[in-house]
Amino acid sequence: MHIYISVVIFFLGLALASFFNALLYRIDNGYKYPDIYIKGSHCEKCGKRLTWYELIPVLSFLIFRGKCKQCGYKVPMYYPVSELVLALSLSFIFYFSLPWTFYLVVLFLFSLSYFDRIYKEIPQDIVHAFLIFGFLSFVILTIVNGSIINNSLLLSSIFSLSVYVLSKVIKKDFGMGDLLVIFTLGFFLTISQFMSFLYIFLGISLLYSLTLILLKRATIKSAIPLLPVMYISFCLMVILNMRLEIILESILFI
Ligand SMILES: [Zn+2]
Repeated sequence: MHIYISVVIFFLGLALASFFNALLYRIDNGYKYPDIYIKGSHCEKCGKRLTWYELIPVLSFLIFRGKCKQCGYKVPMYYPVSELVLALSLSFIFYFSLPWTFYLVVLFLFSLSYFDRIYKEIPQDIVHAFLIFGFLSFVILTIVNGSIINNSLLLSSIFSLSVYVLSKVIKKDFGMGDLLVIFTLGFFLTISQFMSFLYIFLGISLLYSLTLILLKRATIKSAIPLLPVMYISFCLMVILNMRLEIILESILFI
């Protein structure tokens, strides 16, 4: 039964993710209420209205090979990938019975990632709301309920503070918003979850930057939007759950 509900959550997650991407797009492009909710979806370039079979999350992207049928506009790969990852992580949060706060954490990261990808900047309001939510969840789940043993707040504070000091010493600005998000994650995670997140995050950031530099699409000085990487890393940490430790051990010790 448990696995069937996880599968249902996966499909609901796909629909939710696609709805959220459309909603963020509309808020970002200044749609007024009630158009935000009721206006039909259309192509970002030529304005062609999309039919129901062009709106199936991920599947439509694969069938039409990511292009608008009318003008050939290439839909960014970001959409289907971010939607698939959100659906997978929501279903794995349920499957592994992780704390309920994780559902909201992935939605926060999903929204921040959307803005960071476009503007290389994240809205402060969302970061502050995330911080307040983190603090409240820490008080309720860790201090009052005692349900999160080995909370990683100390670790996340030390990590973000060290990066902050380091960025001052080498005079290279590391986004304050990014650091605040990493610090906030400490409210929700256990030490081993935070460590797994950090391994995946640092690994992907390094690979991603090196690939961009090798492809000459960035230099060592370019600012790389880190929130999409954080979002994917958090989701991977959820999907791999505790198995990451086993995988790492087998790579490092054999
Ligand atoms: Zn079009």
